[in-house]
Amino acid sequence: MLQPVAVASKSLADYTHICGRELIAEIRELAEPLKDRRVVHISATAFGGGVSEILYALVPLMRDVGLDCEWQVIYGREEFFNATKLMHNALQGAPQDLDEEQWAAWRQYNEMNARELSAGWDVCLIHDPQPAALYELVPEKAKGWLWRCHIDLSTPNERTIARLLPHIKHYPEALFHMREFVPAGMTGRVHVVPPAIDPLTPKNMALSPEDAAFVCGQFGIDVDRPLMCQVSRFDPWKDPLGVIDAYRVVKQKLPEVQLALVGSMASDDPEGWDYFNATIAHADGDPDIHILNNFNNVGAIEVNAFQSHSDVMVQKSTREGFGLTVAEAIWKARPFIGGNVGGIPLQIEDAVTGFLVSSPQQCAERALDVLKDPALGKFLGRRGKEHVRAHFLMPRYLRDYLLIFHELDEA
Ligand code: UDP
Repeated sequence: MLQPVAVASKSLADYTHICGRELIAEIRELAEPLKDRRVVHISATAFGGGVSEILYALVPLMRDVGLDCEWQVIYGREEFFNATKLMHNALQGAPQDLDEEQWAAWRQYNEMNARELSAGWDVCLIHDPQPAALYELVPEKAKGWLWRCHIDLSTPNERTIARLLPHIKHYPEALFHMREFVPAGMTGRVHVVPPAIDPLTPKNMALSPEDAAFVCGQFGIDVDRPLMCQVSRFDPWKDPLGVIDAYRVVKQKLPEVQLALVGSMASDDPEGWDYFNATIAHADGDPDIHILNNFNNVGAIEVNAFQSHSDVMVQKSTREGFGLTVAEAIWKARPFIGGNVGGIPLQIEDAVTGFLVSSPQQCAERALDVLKDPALGKFLGRRGKEHVRAHFLMPRYLRDYLLIFHELDEA
């Protein structure tokens, strides 16, 4: 019932020219004694959102350095994903907790998946809260267990985190993006490790300005006029409505500006369509607001093109675990404006690698600064790209996992 996910193959050697020889050599050395370890990643979906984005790169690289690595997606139906989406929102601070029936559904699907999980793993990596109960249910199925939290737990709904804590606190190893996300009461080893992007995927590889403009033009963007853009799921925490408000302020001063909201629909996100429709309603028929999703054929290359072509990239989240879209945008050396929340300030030093904002008004002011002064945008973009190179590319993340696997061995 747990579905194995097929991934392409990747070669660590291909990253040498981007990340440097030293890191690649360090990874090989760390991987050598771990050869043939049986490692399984368990997550809730193979499509949409940051976790799947990461695993499509990390799993092939773990294989390339010699681990016997797999990725499996848990089984769930609507009642489970409705409960886990509510849990996700509550853990990021929404007031509504799950009711007893929803907690029971969460537990029941975890029990089902626990029964189905095969045994004999050296390391089992559980991603996010959806499958978090697996460790306590079947600890004997793997020698080492690790819980990887991808969400912003800095201000959780107290009832929800109290209810989840007994299921996560005993994991021997737990990983969080930031110290502020670590809940009180974890009893195992806790690591602060931010994730990373893959510079060699179609989403992040270099596209020429002409090719990027060509792709954007096909979606109705006037490539000779300025473009603001946000790439993200249609989710209240990503605040696409706030982005529209910011764009409207910019448009008063700069009538030629356009806005693109590019968002994919994740299979574990039942709220997505409602919020997509709310975003369309908020745009109110403005022909310069382009709202696109993966059902309009917006895939990885198209996301790349929008991120490469836009004059200002925005991620105006009000909660954010890490925000891969931030690293993706600044890796393309674009001027960037992000909400000052969650993992975004890890990536953006205000006025150095981009701008941090806390309201649509501030977002609009910063967008105008950048649109009126292209040299400023260029300066920020270059610094941003080097910041990503130093901290947020996949080989660094792979190295950090290998270090933790060694620690599991020593425990
Ligand atoms: N994404 C995409 N197409 C879209 C919107 C988003 O491929 O239309 C990708 C985006 O490029 C990023 C991931 O989905 O790689 C979102 O990860 P992030 O950490 O920003 O947010 P999450 O969705 O996990 O909250």
